[in-house]
Amino acid sequence: MEKKSPLKYIIMYLKISPSAEKAINLLASSGYAAYAVGGCVRDLIMGEEPNDFDITTSSRPEETLYVFRDFKTIETGLKHGTVTVLIDGDPLEITTFRSDGEYKDNRHPEKVEFSRHVSDDLSRRDFTVNAMAYNHDDGLIDLFGGTEDLKKGVIRTVGEADKRFNEDALRILRAFRFASQKGFSIAPKTAESALRNLHLLENLSAERVYSELKKLLLGKNAERIMLDYPEVICAVIPELKPAVGFDQRNPHHIYDVYTHTVKAVCACPFDPVLRLAALLHDVGKPETFSLKDGVGHFYGHSDKSMEIAKRVLERLKVDNYTKNTVLTLIKYHDPVIPAEERSVKRYMNRLTPEVLSMLLDLKGADNLAQSPECAKRLEIYTEIRRIMAEITEKNECFSKSQLALNGDDLIALGIPRGKRVGQILDALLEEVTAGNIENEKDLLIEFVKKLQ
Ligand code: ATP
Ligand code: MG
Repeated sequence: MEKKSPLKYIIMYLKISPSAEKAINLLASSGYAAYAVGGCVRDLIMGEEPNDFDITTSSRPEETLYVFRDFKTIETGLKHGTVTVLIDGDPLEITTFRSDGEYKDNRHPEKVEFSRHVSDDLSRRDFTVNAMAYNHDDGLIDLFGGTEDLKKGVIRTVGEADKRFNEDALRILRAFRFASQKGFSIAPKTAESALRNLHLLENLSAERVYSELKKLLLGKNAERIMLDYPEVICAVIPELKPAVGFDQRNPHHIYDVYTHTVKAVCACPFDPVLRLAALLHDVGKPETFSLKDGVGHFYGHSDKSMEIAKRVLERLKVDNYTKNTVLTLIKYHDPVIPAEERSVKRYMNRLTPEVLSMLLDLKGADNLAQSPECAKRLEIYTEIRRIMAEITEKNECFSKSQLALNGDDLIALGIPRGKRVGQILDALLEEVTAGNIENEKDLLIEFVKKLQ
């Protein structure tokens, strides 16, 4: 096929997946150019396992459908040139070379134009490290110095940063997200332009913003990026602005609220719900600050943080499970949980063992992020986990559903249906978890009879 401009092929061997290889070969044998492209090429050059393989090709969507007529295909986004093909059980996205037309509202191209040139497709991509294509025959096509930037660990826009960020403001967040995930820095001009254009984030849908924020929070370099660029986090969550530089005036805290928050996020395991909870756990601190004898206090900050977090999570259109769990974790992040069976059972009942386990992670991260002194408190969480494991192992009762007596049994004993049944079950659970009665049906019946 005629090339628009001479391409520089770099001889290199990359181990692409068998299904990607099969797709490229099939397209090639039908006379089309086809490459693995984007994130998978970047990850392979870095020696990492790609999340998925994307294919870019000169064939038009209807031609792609014809080439893969013997396979199961899904017309994922025909308008945008994308066909998903199932190859050996693997879904593979195959997209026609595209050049994006004019953009409107800083997010959507007015129209997508298909092209027969891979160079057009690479030019529309966001960053040099994401703008490389590869197949075994041609080797690597790197038109913008992507390999060089990968070597240096730099995120740099393809073309002029201002123009690219104005076309699609999501790229601003993607720059920081990739820097966080890959441990890269951001090229000075790209970073300057990103910061200058942060206001454009307002035009983006909540879903796209949240998806990038989540990935940023989970990056191995999240601490550096969040500390170096607080304005980016605050552009997404303006509620955190007062936390930046907020001196806690408290001997247990050596960091300001924002720095403490970032350190808590990054001391959490790599779990999106936990990290989101850590990001918002102290968001209410500045509003609840009071000073007594020169020492800062934040009475009621958990409730305030919950209230603000609820607003933030709803604005970001976070799913209900995440929202509710984050709010529960924030609510309970501060009080001390005594390392004794009775309290642990109460928490297991109130939160579920899963959420209690997350709460212990959050509390540990919170302590670690206060000061080296407070990190010593971590032993208590190990002890609580040991007690939890013992309760689970012995199948001990910590919730109403585990009681040897249920609501129907109570009704059979002559308790009238309604509120009273629930109250008696609560009382039974209290006695059983306190160790006052064994969880045995006869003993529980006896207790109920005495209550009458
Ligand atoms: P990940 O490993 O997180 O999936 P990725 O690089 O594959 O990383 P995707 O969001 O899956 O990221 O996008 C695939 C490719 O599509 C990118 O590598 C990039 O070339 C291109 N791309 C995605 N989003 C944009 C965008 N907003 N603007 C320009 N190019 C984009
Ligand atoms: Mg991807």
